[in-house]
Amino acid sequence: MYTDFAARLATSIWPDFDQTPARSTETPAITDVETVVIDGNFPWTIVTVETDAGVTGIGEAYPSPGVHEVITDFFGPVLEGENPLDVERLYHLMREALSGRGSQDGIGTIAISGVELALWDAAGKILDQPVYQLLGGKMREEVRMYADCHAGEGMVESALNEGEAHGVYKPEAYARAARAAVDDGFESIKFDLDVPSGREIDTISRHFDSPEIEHKRRLVEAVTDEVGAEAEVAVDLHWNFSSDAARKLCHALESYDLAWVEDPLPPENGDAMATLNRSVEQPLLTGENRYGRHGFRDLVEQEAVSFVAPDIPKTGGIAETKKIAELADTYYMTLAPHNIGSPVATMAGVHVGATVPNFLALEFHARDVPWWDDLVAREEPLIQDGYIEVPDTPGLGIELDWDVVEEHRA
Ligand SMILES: [Mg+2]
Repeated sequence: MYTDFAARLATSIWPDFDQTPARSTETPAITDVETVVIDGNFPWTIVTVETDAGVTGIGEAYPSPGVHEVITDFFGPVLEGENPLDVERLYHLMREALSGRGSQDGIGTIAISGVELALWDAAGKILDQPVYQLLGGKMREEVRMYADCHAGEGMVESALNEGEAHGVYKPEAYARAARAAVDDGFESIKFDLDVPSGREIDTISRHFDSPEIEHKRRLVEAVTDEVGAEAEVAVDLHWNFSSDAARKLCHALESYDLAWVEDPLPPENGDAMATLNRSVEQPLLTGENRYGRHGFRDLVEQEAVSFVAPDIPKTGGIAETKKIAELADTYYMTLAPHNIGSPVATMAGVHVGATVPNFLALEFHARDVPWWDDLVAREEPLIQDGYIEVPDTPGLGIELDWDVVEEHRA
Protein backbone atom coordinates (compact mmCIF):
# COMPACT_ATOMS: atom_id res chain seq x y z
CA MET A 1 0.00 0.00 0.00
CA TYR A 2 2.81 2.37 0.90
CA THR A 3 4.47 1.53 -2.42
CA ASP A 4 1.26 2.36 -4.32
CA PHE A 5 1.02 5.70 -2.54
CA ALA A 6 4.68 6.47 -3.23
CA ALA A 7 4.23 5.60 -6.91
CA ARG A 8 1.12 7.82 -7.22
CA LEU A 9 2.93 10.66 -5.45
CA ALA A 10 5.93 10.26 -7.75
CA THR A 11 3.68 10.23 -10.84
CA SER A 12 1.94 13.43 -9.69
CA ILE A 13 5.32 15.16 -9.37
CA TRP A 14 6.99 13.58 -12.43
CA PRO A 15 4.41 12.59 -15.07
CA ASP A 16 7.03 10.41 -16.82
CA PHE A 17 7.75 8.39 -13.64
CA ASP A 18 8.06 4.74 -14.61
CA GLN A 19 5.94 2.64 -12.27
CA THR A 20 7.20 -0.72 -13.48
CA PRO A 21 9.52 -2.37 -10.93
CA ALA A 22 13.18 -2.43 -11.90
CA ARG A 23 13.41 -6.17 -11.26
CA SER A 24 11.29 -9.07 -12.30
CA THR A 25 8.66 -9.86 -9.68
CA GLU A 26 9.06 -13.57 -10.38
CA THR A 27 10.14 -15.37 -7.24
CA PRO A 28 13.36 -17.36 -7.71
CA ALA A 29 13.43 -20.95 -6.48
CA ILE A 30 16.09 -23.37 -5.29
CA THR A 31 16.37 -26.35 -7.64
CA ASP A 32 19.25 -28.39 -6.16
CA VAL A 33 21.72 -28.54 -3.28
CA GLU A 34 25.05 -30.41 -3.66
CA THR A 35 28.50 -30.66 -2.09
CA VAL A 36 32.00 -31.10 -3.51
CA VAL A 37 34.93 -31.95 -1.25
CA ILE A 38 38.35 -30.44 -2.04
CA ASP A 39 41.40 -32.24 -0.69
CA GLY A 40 43.04 -29.22 0.97
CA ASN A 41 44.92 -29.21 4.27
CA PHE A 42 41.42 -30.09 5.52
CA PRO A 43 38.64 -31.67 3.43
CA TRP A 44 37.08 -28.36 2.36
CA THR A 45 33.38 -29.06 1.84
CA ILE A 46 32.00 -26.76 -0.84
CA VAL A 47 28.20 -26.38 -0.96
CA THR A 48 26.37 -25.39 -4.14
CA VAL A 49 22.78 -24.12 -4.16
CA GLU A 50 21.33 -24.14 -7.69
CA THR A 51 18.47 -21.78 -8.51
CA ASP A 52 16.14 -21.26 -11.46
CA ALA A 53 17.31 -17.62 -11.57
CA GLY A 54 20.41 -18.58 -13.54
CA VAL A 55 22.78 -18.31 -10.58
CA THR A 56 24.48 -20.83 -8.32
CA GLY A 57 25.26 -19.91 -4.73
CA ILE A 58 28.58 -21.24 -3.41
CA GLY A 59 29.10 -21.88 0.29
CA GLU A 60 31.29 -24.03 2.50
CA ALA A 61 30.64 -26.24 5.52
CA TYR A 62 33.24 -26.99 8.20
CA PRO A 63 34.96 -30.31 7.34
CA SER A 64 32.96 -32.94 9.21
CA PRO A 65 32.04 -36.59 8.65
CA GLY A 66 28.46 -37.00 7.47
CA VAL A 67 27.93 -33.36 6.57
CA HIS A 68 27.53 -34.20 2.85
CA GLU A 69 24.62 -36.55 3.61
CA VAL A 70 22.87 -34.03 5.87
CA ILE A 71 23.17 -31.28 3.27
CA THR A 72 22.20 -33.20 0.14
CA ASP A 73 19.92 -36.01 1.34
CA PHE A 74 18.19 -34.19 4.18
CA PHE A 75 18.24 -30.46 3.38
CA GLY A 76 18.01 -30.91 -0.41
CA PRO A 77 14.30 -31.90 -0.36
CA VAL A 78 13.57 -29.35 2.43
CA LEU A 79 14.98 -26.48 0.36
CA GLU A 80 13.89 -27.36 -3.18
CA GLY A 81 11.30 -24.85 -4.43
CA GLU A 82 12.09 -22.35 -1.63
CA ASN A 83 13.05 -18.74 -2.35
CA PRO A 84 16.87 -18.39 -1.98
CA LEU A 85 16.44 -14.69 -1.09
CA ASP A 86 14.77 -15.67 2.20
CA VAL A 87 18.11 -16.47 3.82
CA GLU A 88 17.11 -15.96 7.46
CA ARG A 89 13.75 -17.74 7.01
CA LEU A 90 15.49 -20.72 5.39
CA TYR A 91 18.01 -20.78 8.25
CA HIS A 92 15.07 -21.21 10.63
CA LEU A 93 13.39 -23.71 8.30
CA MET A 94 16.53 -25.89 8.39
CA ARG A 95 16.80 -25.55 12.19
CA GLU A 96 13.14 -26.55 12.49
CA ALA A 97 13.50 -29.47 10.08
CA LEU A 98 16.44 -30.85 12.10
CA SER A 99 14.98 -29.94 15.48
CA GLY A 100 15.96 -32.49 18.13
CA ARG A 101 18.51 -34.05 15.78
CA GLY A 102 21.45 -31.70 15.98
CA SER A 103 20.10 -28.33 14.89
CA GLN A 104 21.57 -26.67 18.04
CA ASP A 105 25.15 -27.80 17.51
CA GLY A 106 27.41 -30.38 15.89
CA ILE A 107 26.98 -31.76 12.38
CA GLY A 108 23.44 -30.38 12.00
CA THR A 109 24.53 -26.79 12.63
CA ILE A 110 27.61 -27.29 10.45
CA ALA A 111 25.39 -28.42 7.56
CA ILE A 112 23.04 -25.47 8.10
CA SER A 113 26.06 -23.13 8.12
CA GLY A 114 27.33 -24.45 4.79
CA VAL A 115 23.97 -23.95 3.12
CA GLU A 116 23.56 -20.51 4.71
CA LEU A 117 26.81 -19.29 3.15
CA ALA A 118 25.65 -20.50 -0.27
CA LEU A 119 22.26 -18.81 0.19
CA TRP A 120 23.91 -15.43 0.87
CA ASP A 121 26.06 -15.89 -2.24
CA ALA A 122 22.98 -16.80 -4.32
CA ALA A 123 20.95 -13.90 -2.90
CA GLY A 124 23.74 -11.45 -3.65
CA LYS A 125 24.08 -12.71 -7.21
CA ILE A 126 20.32 -12.59 -7.83
CA LEU A 127 20.05 -9.04 -6.41
CA ASP A 128 23.37 -8.00 -8.03
CA GLN A 129 24.77 -6.88 -4.66
CA PRO A 130 27.78 -7.92 -2.56
CA VAL A 131 26.87 -9.82 0.60
CA TYR A 132 28.16 -7.01 2.86
CA GLN A 133 25.55 -4.71 1.30
CA LEU A 134 22.76 -7.16 2.15
CA LEU A 135 24.10 -7.23 5.73
CA GLY A 136 23.83 -3.46 6.13
CA GLY A 137 26.90 -2.14 4.35
CA LYS A 138 30.63 -2.16 4.97
CA MET A 139 32.55 -0.38 7.72
CA ARG A 140 35.98 -1.00 6.21
CA GLU A 141 37.45 -1.39 2.72
CA GLU A 142 39.79 -4.26 3.57
CA VAL A 143 39.82 -7.02 6.12
CA ARG A 144 42.90 -7.88 8.17
CA MET A 145 44.06 -11.50 8.04
CA TYR A 146 46.21 -13.23 10.61
CA ALA A 147 48.48 -16.09 9.66
CA ASP A 148 48.34 -19.40 11.47
CA CYS A 149 52.02 -20.37 11.32
CA HIS A 150 51.75 -23.98 12.34
CA ALA A 151 51.62 -24.75 8.62
CA GLY A 152 51.01 -28.48 9.07
CA GLU A 153 53.61 -30.99 7.97
CA GLY A 154 56.01 -28.35 6.68
CA MET A 155 56.38 -26.88 10.13
CA VAL A 156 56.84 -30.27 11.78
CA GLU A 157 59.62 -31.23 9.38
CA SER A 158 61.42 -27.94 9.62
CA ALA A 159 61.14 -28.18 13.40
CA LEU A 160 62.55 -31.70 13.59
CA ASN A 161 65.83 -32.22 15.32
CA GLU A 162 68.28 -33.81 12.89
CA GLY A 163 68.29 -37.56 13.43
CA GLU A 164 65.49 -37.60 16.02
CA ALA A 165 62.67 -40.06 15.63
CA HIS A 166 59.84 -37.85 16.82
CA GLY A 167 58.98 -34.20 16.31
CA VAL A 168 60.64 -31.65 18.54
CA TYR A 169 59.49 -28.12 18.00
CA LYS A 170 62.54 -25.87 17.99
CA PRO A 171 62.65 -22.13 18.67
CA GLU A 172 64.75 -21.59 15.49
CA ALA A 173 62.04 -23.18 13.33
CA TYR A 174 59.36 -21.02 14.95
CA ALA A 175 61.46 -17.91 14.34
CA ARG A 176 61.93 -18.88 10.66
CA ALA A 177 58.19 -19.43 10.18
CA ALA A 178 57.46 -16.10 11.87
CA ARG A 179 59.93 -14.26 9.64
CA ALA A 180 58.41 -15.83 6.50
CA ALA A 181 54.86 -14.80 7.47
CA VAL A 182 55.89 -11.26 8.37
CA ASP A 183 57.87 -10.95 5.12
CA ASP A 184 54.67 -11.96 3.31
CA GLY A 185 52.98 -8.92 4.86
CA PHE A 186 51.10 -10.38 7.83
CA GLU A 187 50.92 -8.00 10.80
CA SER A 188 49.41 -10.66 13.01
CA ILE A 189 50.68 -14.24 13.41
CA LYS A 190 49.77 -17.23 15.56
CA PHE A 191 51.69 -20.31 16.74
CA ASP A 192 50.63 -23.57 18.38
CA LEU A 193 52.19 -24.10 21.80
CA ASP A 194 50.69 -27.52 22.60
CA VAL A 195 53.57 -29.12 20.70
CA PRO A 196 56.12 -31.82 21.56
CA SER A 197 59.23 -30.72 23.45
CA GLY A 198 61.00 -34.06 22.98
CA ARG A 199 60.19 -35.25 26.52
CA GLU A 200 57.79 -38.09 27.20
CA ILE A 201 54.89 -36.57 29.12
CA ASP A 202 51.33 -37.60 29.96
CA THR A 203 49.42 -35.13 27.77
CA ILE A 204 46.02 -36.59 28.72
CA SER A 205 46.41 -35.20 32.25
CA ARG A 206 46.76 -31.67 30.77
CA HIS A 207 49.47 -31.11 33.37
CA PHE A 208 52.56 -29.36 32.05
CA ASP A 209 55.54 -29.26 34.40
CA SER A 210 58.19 -26.56 34.57
CA PRO A 211 60.49 -27.94 31.81
CA GLU A 212 57.48 -28.15 29.47
CA ILE A 213 56.48 -24.58 30.28
CA GLU A 214 60.08 -23.47 29.72
CA HIS A 215 60.01 -25.15 26.26
CA LYS A 216 56.88 -23.13 25.33
CA ARG A 217 58.44 -19.94 26.73
CA ARG A 218 61.51 -20.41 24.54
CA LEU A 219 59.32 -20.87 21.44
CA VAL A 220 57.51 -17.61 22.18
CA GLU A 221 60.74 -15.80 22.97
CA ALA A 222 62.22 -16.87 19.62
CA VAL A 223 59.19 -15.61 17.70
CA THR A 224 58.82 -12.28 19.49
CA ASP A 225 62.60 -11.63 19.28
CA GLU A 226 62.43 -12.30 15.53
CA VAL A 227 59.45 -10.11 14.66
CA GLY A 228 59.81 -7.38 17.30
CA ALA A 229 57.28 -4.64 16.62
CA GLU A 230 56.65 -5.83 13.03
CA ALA A 231 53.75 -8.10 14.01
CA GLU A 232 51.63 -9.06 16.96
CA VAL A 233 51.95 -12.64 18.12
CA ALA A 234 49.23 -14.96 19.43
CA VAL A 235 49.47 -18.54 20.68
CA ASP A 236 47.02 -21.46 20.53
CA LEU A 237 46.82 -24.13 23.25
CA HIS A 238 44.01 -26.23 21.66
CA TRP A 239 42.18 -27.05 24.92
CA ASN A 240 45.15 -29.11 26.11
CA PHE A 241 46.06 -27.40 29.39
CA SER A 242 44.65 -27.73 32.91
CA SER A 243 43.60 -24.50 34.66
CA ASP A 244 46.78 -24.59 36.72
CA ALA A 245 49.10 -25.32 33.78
CA ALA A 246 47.45 -22.59 31.70
CA ARG A 247 47.87 -20.07 34.53
CA LYS A 248 51.55 -21.01 35.01
CA LEU A 249 52.21 -20.77 31.28
CA CYS A 250 50.50 -17.38 31.00
CA HIS A 251 52.57 -16.05 33.91
CA ALA A 252 55.76 -17.34 32.25
CA LEU A 253 54.79 -15.51 29.03
CA GLU A 254 53.80 -12.18 30.60
CA SER A 255 56.77 -10.20 29.30
CA TYR A 256 56.12 -11.07 25.63
CA ASP A 257 52.99 -8.92 25.21
CA LEU A 258 51.00 -11.59 23.35
CA ALA A 259 47.99 -10.51 21.31
CA TRP A 260 46.00 -13.38 22.82
CA VAL A 261 46.19 -16.87 24.30
CA GLU A 262 43.75 -19.12 22.45
CA ASP A 263 41.80 -22.04 23.93
CA PRO A 264 43.89 -22.52 27.09
CA LEU A 265 41.17 -24.77 28.55
CA PRO A 266 38.74 -27.34 27.14
CA PRO A 267 35.83 -25.57 25.45
CA GLU A 268 32.82 -26.54 27.56
CA ASN A 269 33.23 -24.66 30.83
CA GLY A 270 32.77 -20.89 30.68
CA ASP A 271 33.10 -20.59 34.49
CA ALA A 272 36.63 -22.03 34.41
CA MET A 273 37.59 -19.72 31.56
CA ALA A 274 36.21 -16.70 33.42
CA THR A 275 38.25 -17.66 36.52
CA LEU A 276 41.40 -18.05 34.42
CA ASN A 277 40.70 -14.75 32.68
CA ARG A 278 40.69 -12.93 36.02
CA SER A 279 44.03 -14.45 37.05
CA VAL A 280 46.19 -13.82 33.95
CA GLU A 281 47.45 -10.72 32.18
CA GLN A 282 46.98 -11.87 28.58
CA PRO A 283 43.76 -11.45 26.63
CA LEU A 284 42.10 -14.85 26.15
CA LEU A 285 40.34 -16.03 22.99
CA THR A 286 37.97 -18.93 22.43
CA GLY A 287 34.94 -19.97 20.39
CA GLU A 288 35.78 -22.32 17.51
CA ASN A 289 33.90 -25.12 19.31
CA ARG A 290 30.87 -23.03 20.26
CA TYR A 291 27.66 -22.88 18.25
CA GLY A 292 25.46 -19.86 17.65
CA ARG A 293 24.63 -16.94 19.88
CA HIS A 294 23.45 -19.21 22.66
CA GLY A 295 26.79 -21.00 22.61
CA PHE A 296 28.57 -17.71 23.32
CA ARG A 297 26.16 -16.23 25.89
CA ASP A 298 27.90 -17.56 29.02
CA LEU A 299 31.36 -16.55 27.76
CA VAL A 300 30.14 -13.04 27.05
CA GLU A 301 28.02 -12.51 30.17
CA GLN A 302 30.82 -13.79 32.42
CA GLU A 303 33.42 -11.76 30.54
CA ALA A 304 35.40 -14.99 30.24
CA VAL A 305 37.46 -13.87 27.24
CA SER A 306 38.56 -10.74 25.38
CA PHE A 307 38.08 -12.20 21.89
CA VAL A 308 35.31 -14.43 20.53
CA ALA A 309 36.33 -16.71 17.66
CA PRO A 310 33.34 -18.45 16.08
CA ASP A 311 34.05 -20.53 12.98
CA ILE A 312 31.60 -19.14 10.41
CA PRO A 313 30.92 -22.35 8.39
CA LYS A 314 30.42 -24.18 11.69
CA THR A 315 28.71 -21.89 14.19
CA GLY A 316 25.60 -21.11 12.10
CA GLY A 317 26.89 -19.07 9.18
CA ILE A 318 27.28 -15.42 8.22
CA ALA A 319 24.21 -13.88 9.91
CA GLU A 320 24.67 -15.92 13.09
CA THR A 321 28.31 -14.81 13.35
CA LYS A 322 27.21 -11.19 12.98
CA LYS A 323 24.77 -11.76 15.86
CA ILE A 324 27.55 -13.31 17.97
CA ALA A 325 29.67 -10.23 17.26
CA GLU A 326 26.80 -7.97 18.33
CA LEU A 327 26.34 -9.98 21.53
CA ALA A 328 30.08 -9.72 22.21
CA ASP A 329 29.95 -5.98 21.55
CA THR A 330 27.52 -5.52 24.46
CA TYR A 331 30.54 -6.32 26.70
CA TYR A 332 33.02 -4.54 24.39
CA MET A 333 34.66 -7.77 23.25
CA THR A 334 36.20 -8.25 19.83
CA LEU A 335 35.51 -10.73 17.01
CA ALA A 336 38.42 -12.68 15.49
CA PRO A 337 36.83 -15.54 13.52
CA HIS A 338 38.45 -18.97 13.37
CA ASN A 339 38.99 -20.12 9.78
CA ILE A 340 40.60 -23.23 8.31
CA GLY A 341 38.64 -23.10 5.07
CA SER A 342 39.03 -22.63 1.35
CA PRO A 343 38.71 -19.19 -0.27
CA VAL A 344 34.89 -19.60 -0.03
CA ALA A 345 34.78 -19.80 3.78
CA THR A 346 37.42 -17.08 3.88
CA MET A 347 35.29 -14.71 1.81
CA ALA A 348 32.34 -15.34 4.14
CA GLY A 349 34.66 -14.10 6.90
CA VAL A 350 35.62 -11.07 4.81
CA HIS A 351 31.98 -9.99 4.45
CA VAL A 352 31.32 -10.46 8.17
CA GLY A 353 34.56 -8.63 8.99
CA ALA A 354 33.56 -5.78 6.67
CA THR A 355 30.21 -5.23 8.38
CA VAL A 356 31.00 -5.80 12.06
CA PRO A 357 32.40 -2.81 14.02
CA ASN A 358 34.20 -4.91 16.69
CA PHE A 359 36.24 -6.97 14.23
CA LEU A 360 39.99 -7.56 14.64
CA ALA A 361 41.22 -10.13 12.11
CA LEU A 362 40.26 -13.32 10.26
CA GLU A 363 42.40 -16.44 10.40
CA PHE A 364 44.30 -17.78 7.37
CA HIS A 365 45.31 -21.38 7.88
CA ALA A 366 46.52 -22.47 4.42
CA ARG A 367 50.04 -21.11 4.09
CA ASP A 368 51.16 -24.66 3.28
CA VAL A 369 48.67 -25.05 0.40
CA PRO A 370 50.41 -23.46 -2.62
CA TRP A 371 47.30 -23.80 -4.86
CA TRP A 372 44.89 -22.11 -2.40
CA ASP A 373 44.70 -19.03 -4.65
CA ASP A 374 44.41 -21.12 -7.83
CA LEU A 375 40.95 -22.21 -6.63
CA VAL A 376 39.74 -18.67 -7.30
CA ALA A 377 39.06 -17.55 -10.86
CA ARG A 378 41.14 -14.36 -10.74
CA GLU A 379 44.69 -13.32 -11.51
CA GLU A 380 45.87 -11.64 -8.30
CA PRO A 381 46.19 -13.43 -4.97
CA LEU A 382 43.24 -12.92 -2.64
CA ILE A 383 45.42 -11.95 0.34
CA GLN A 384 47.79 -9.08 -0.34
CA ASP A 385 50.12 -7.74 2.37
CA GLY A 386 48.06 -9.47 5.03
CA TYR A 387 44.72 -8.01 3.97
CA ILE A 388 41.81 -8.97 1.68
CA GLU A 389 40.12 -6.11 -0.15
CA VAL A 390 36.35 -6.23 0.37
CA PRO A 391 34.97 -7.02 -3.12
CA ASP A 392 32.14 -5.07 -4.73
CA THR A 393 31.15 -7.92 -7.03
CA PRO A 394 27.83 -9.71 -6.32
CA GLY A 395 27.50 -12.37 -3.63
CA LEU A 396 30.63 -13.44 -1.78
CA GLY A 397 32.61 -11.82 -4.59
CA ILE A 398 34.64 -14.74 -5.91
CA GLU A 399 34.07 -17.53 -8.40
CA LEU A 400 35.78 -20.88 -8.09
CA ASP A 401 37.93 -22.20 -10.93
CA TRP A 402 36.10 -25.51 -11.32
CA ASP A 403 38.98 -27.08 -13.30
CA VAL A 404 41.26 -26.52 -10.30
CA VAL A 405 38.54 -27.78 -7.95
CA GLU A 406 38.28 -30.93 -10.07
CA GLU A 407 42.07 -31.36 -9.96
CA HIS A 408 42.04 -31.42 -6.15
CA ARG A 409 38.69 -33.14 -5.66
CA ALA A 410 38.77 -35.64 -2.80
MG1 LIG B 1 42.49 -22.55 17.43
